[in-house]
Amino acid sequence: MTLHNDISYLKGVGPQRAEALQKELGIYTWGQLLLHFPFRYIDKSQIMKIRDVQSDAVAVQIQGQFISVREIGDGRVKRLAAIFGDDTGHIELVWFKGVKWAKAAIQLNVPYIIYGKPTEFKGKYSIPHPELELLDQSRIASGNELKPVYSTTEKLGVKGLNSNGISKLTRQLIEEVNGKIPENLSEEIIQRFKLLSRNDALCQVHVPSNLAMLDQARRRLKFEELFFIQMQLVKQKLLNTRMERGVVFEKVGHYFNEFYQKHLPFELTGAQKRVIKEIRADVARGHHMNRLIQGDVGSGKTIVAVISALLAIDNGYQACLMAPTEILAHQHYNGISELLAPLGLEVVLLTGSTPKGERKKIHEKLLNGEISLLIGTHALIEPVVQFKNLGLVIIDEQHRFGVAQRAALWKKATLPPHILVMTATPIPRTLAMTLYGDLDNSIIDELPPGRKPIQTQHKTDAKRLEVFGFMEEEIKKGRQIYVVYPLIEESEAMDYKDLQDGYESLVRRFPLPHYRISVVHGQMKQEARDYEMDLFVKGKTQIMVATTVIEVGVNVPNASVMIIESAERFGLSQLHQLRGRVGRGAEQSYCILMTGHKLSSDARTRLSTMVETTDGFKIAEVDLQLRGPGDLAGTQQSGVLNLRIADLAKDQKILAAARELALEIVDEDPHLTLEKNRPIAEHLILMSEHKSNWSRIS
Ligand code: ADP
Ligand code: MG
Repeated sequence: MTLHNDISYLKGVGPQRAEALQKELGIYTWGQLLLHFPFRYIDKSQIMKIRDVQSDAVAVQIQGQFISVREIGDGRVKRLAAIFGDDTGHIELVWFKGVKWAKAAIQLNVPYIIYGKPTEFKGKYSIPHPELELLDQSRIASGNELKPVYSTTEKLGVKGLNSNGISKLTRQLIEEVNGKIPENLSEEIIQRFKLLSRNDALCQVHVPSNLAMLDQARRRLKFEELFFIQMQLVKQKLLNTRMERGVVFEKVGHYFNEFYQKHLPFELTGAQKRVIKEIRADVARGHHMNRLIQGDVGSGKTIVAVISALLAIDNGYQACLMAPTEILAHQHYNGISELLAPLGLEVVLLTGSTPKGERKKIHEKLLNGEISLLIGTHALIEPVVQFKNLGLVIIDEQHRFGVAQRAALWKKATLPPHILVMTATPIPRTLAMTLYGDLDNSIIDELPPGRKPIQTQHKTDAKRLEVFGFMEEEIKKGRQIYVVYPLIEESEAMDYKDLQDGYESLVRRFPLPHYRISVVHGQMKQEARDYEMDLFVKGKTQIMVATTVIEVGVNVPNASVMIIESAERFGLSQLHQLRGRVGRGAEQSYCILMTGHKLSSDARTRLSTMVETTDGFKIAEVDLQLRGPGDLAGTQQSGVLNLRIADLAKDQKILAAARELALEIVDEDPHLTLEKNRPIAEHLILMSEHKSNWSRIS
């Protein structure tokens, strides 16, 4: 079949180009080239004149010529500056990286189309790292309005395969395969969702006849892409829930009842009760539980985890709880061992810093079943950690654990243990469907009673004295305060300096003996961190100056003020997480976002979102719109998000329809044996073959 043809059989691709396409883009076959979609299109009607460049808000496309090019500076600070002009004026284009490449790519006095985002400096605009497109005369003549732009690499460029070169290949390819591209959806689906055929969509996406056809082609391909991902997830889910045998927690026993009746520190919320019920039903059924609990910060996920663990223990199994950081593991350990103390169960902490001797003992006690509940960090996934009969794995703040890590846990037991994933970062529905589409979902959508919504304000650095005054008042009332500094790896030294300076000015303003201030940051030894944290937890220090190490999970109900320094440097979900550290007691809590004066428009959106809402799901949606799914916390390692054409931020409707359809099909025909579903079944097999080919290659 033609789509399997080796790429070197395509006219215009010799052995050298074939090798480059394989190495650079992983394109081995015709079919793979067909799936190398343009990432945008130059719409010739949308070309802007330099005179009209007036804002740094949007990217612009300009047609013109290079007038001059020069290198400025040398060594590490070398940059390339080019003057680009059209019939209305000039604009500067600059490169700080890839100077050599850019220099080679620029020819003077021939027509180019450039594309990029202008930045303003002292009233003048320049465009850093624009995309360049040598204007192809034949294309101008052909009058084709929509010109595809392909991603390519420097090495391919050298072989003549810049975007234009690739475009020529795909045109060639389409001449060969048009009319022969097989369908992978049923006729019924195509009719129902009014989709283009696969053949037409793949041709139109590379060589669009017009904008309307292009939109249709892209819609069909997005639908197809999302649909097949959902088919895989939904089938996996079915496998998990209906076919995969799991350990059975059939009874609610002594520990559960004892704890529930005598030692619950508070009345559970309705949402907590509901989720516990869902879990109970799930683990009693004899199949394997794979459940995601989403609950905003402070919604009380820990107690749900603890009660689930008791269920496992009651049935003769061990449980473990895994946290993403040492601090959080410690806190869980302290809190949970206190909660469970009256039951006399052995609860143990295991982290990277557990001493060797102790570690060995823990390993032994896990194997002989003395330990009922193990709490820890990634250290738990290590192969040396073996259990006697692990029945339940709870993963807290899951978004930092990848799917692969989840899988590693399965290997620790003969029957796969039940898995409960808890995330405090509410994720948008589309992401949840895609990242956790194979999991069942529970949502704790109710905060414990008596909480007052946190009041959030945005203040510029100029208002610092006022903020100090406010801090003083709160401390007088007996409250405690967090002051958090950003920490971004590349500029570590600078960040610590900010924190250090901030700490010193706080010490001057809030001096001993009246006030005491704790500091916690990632460069401190674990004992020192724990010591400081402990002082704060016990209320012996009033202010905690910290980096984001406190972001996750830390719980000090008496802390009622969260001050976030350089708040513009944090992402939305991080801001939301940090804010969630306060508002845990009965007192009115506050979050103050400190920033400088100059803010980008994205930063403004983030700050105003924080001021306007405390709803984690709303915040997650805004975050998704601002950053796109690839940049959201924890999604990076997930292969599901290497989408070719669909965009989870924009294609929510298509995704919802695709998932609906997948559920419907799997429900009706779980093994895809019906004739109408044959194209789908065949495509799924093709996909899984590809995956295994890939793992063999890499
Ligand atoms: P998160 O969901 O962020 O992990 P936690 O489990 O840490 O939240 O709970 C936050 C705080 O709320 C803790 O101090 C916990 O003891 C308390 N809490 C949890 N559930 C309830 C409840 N039903 N009633 C009162 N307080 C609760
Ligand atoms: Mg928590």
